Amino acid sequence: MRQLLKVARMGHPVLRRVADAVDPAQIAHPDFQDFIDSMLDTMIEYEGVGLAAPQVHESVQVVVFHEDAGLLDADGEPLEALINPTITALTEDTSSMWEGCLSIPGLRGKVSRPNRIQVEALDREGRAVSMVLEEFAAVVMQHECDHLLGKLFIDRLDDTRELSYQEEFDRHWVQQAEEDGVYIDQ
Ligand code: ZN
Repeated sequence: MRQLLKVARMGHPVLRRVADAVDPAQIAHPDFQDFIDSMLDTMIEYEGVGLAAPQVHESVQVVVFHEDAGLLDADGEPLEALINPTITALTEDTSSMWEGCLSIPGLRGKVSRPNRIQVEALDREGRAVSMVLEEFAAVVMQHECDHLLGKLFIDRLDDTRELSYQEEFDRHWVQQAEEDGVYIDQ
């Protein structure tokens, strides 16, 4: 049965663990498929563009995405979920973006990440997925996959002096952020 899940907030140890790989033989199990659907429902409820399983207290390598993330599956449909993803940076060039996180509500910080990456994973049908992502999609993917390594965006801030509460971000930084590019919650 699909249900809304409780989101773990910064300080909960589950967010700092390295998540366990999923046994591919488990992917087709109805309970696992329900878990993915529940993650998708929870992400939408809290207006995230992505969500990782440790954020709902499950230390397993599953990430889900909103269609706004711009990720497509092999059939050209919005990609909903990836299992056991690995990322390789394809460039040393970086983009910086103001990131937010459902596990760190109310805060935003600017993070630089490689802007072209290769991703290998399984999809929710257990099929192998390989894709090259750039810019926004690459940022979303790296933020989510960081959660599977026990990392949060605040570990990667360009400059801690820019870390802002949402209200102060709206007042002092949003104009520059819109000029520089998008900002995101995940
Ligand atoms: Zn996050």
